[in-house]
Amino acid sequence: MPQQGQWQVRAYPHFRPLYHIEGDPGRSADGLFDRMAAIGAHEIIVETPNHSRTFTQLTDEEIQRVLDAYALRISDLKRDARFKYVAVFKNQGPQAGEEWPHSHSQLAATTFVPRRILYELRAAREWYRDRERCVLCDILRQEIRQKQRIVDNVGDYYAFCPYASRVPYETWIMPKTHNHQFEAASPGENRRHLATLLGRTLRRLLQVTNSYHMVLHTAPNTLQTKGELSDYWATIAGDYHWHFEILPIIETRSKSYSIKEVYFNGTLPEQAAEKLRQMDPGK
Ligand SMILES: [Zn+2]
Ligand SMILES: [Zn+2]
Repeated sequence: MPQQGQWQVRAYPHFRPLYHIEGDPGRSADGLFDRMAAIGAHEIIVETPNHSRTFTQLTDEEIQRVLDAYALRISDLKRDARFKYVAVFKNQGPQAGEEWPHSHSQLAATTFVPRRILYELRAAREWYRDRERCVLCDILRQEIRQKQRIVDNVGDYYAFCPYASRVPYETWIMPKTHNHQFEAASPGENRRHLATLLGRTLRRLLQVTNSYHMVLHTAPNTLQTKGELSDYWATIAGDYHWHFEILPIIETRSKSYSIKEVYFNGTLPEQAAEKLRQMDPGK
């Protein structure tokens, strides 16, 4: 980001990228499988120039700069029609496969929509088709009404433990005001509030575990208007709703395990939310 003096947040190409930006996707039907070259962009977003500070030690202003950097890089990469999805994620802590200790996030632009996102997009589209409402707006409205699974709230943003939590203390963060694209802030949106809530939530979770995955789910790239995607995303602005999913990694060998996307979670989200609410969010 352009700043006077020392840099604050920086994006670099990953030194050992999963994807490369050059070339043509070369998608061709190959029997049952689509063979695709590993085209894409894989970047590291360094969150602070200070090697010893962790994400949860950053100020709200610094966290907001990181969020703004996510938005800038996503918007930039979405200008390339070859990229169908831009994922932002953060692996924090030794059990999350963190690659090196300096605080960072990663960004991957891919020529396909990752499978888990695709499932979610399809479910949201079907819900919208039946009810003409956004499923995530519906979920959050219900959570706010019931209060049991809400962890915290700052301005328009809410943190809650989702009803079907896959792991203990799974927490989602999203705005109450509907918006399908994280990178395109809606009028009146205040990312400082989001930064504050994210910091508070992660400092709570830190009291449960030092390792987590954080993934931003935002709308796919709708730049491609021909072929398969032309009507596929026709209702995307109404049916999808961006959110962060935070998946803490807790060593409870016998209590939590996953087999092929079927999750058994021994901690009820209501209990997790209750405990998190009672914890000190810091600052
Ligand atoms: Zn919504
Ligand atoms: Zn999601």
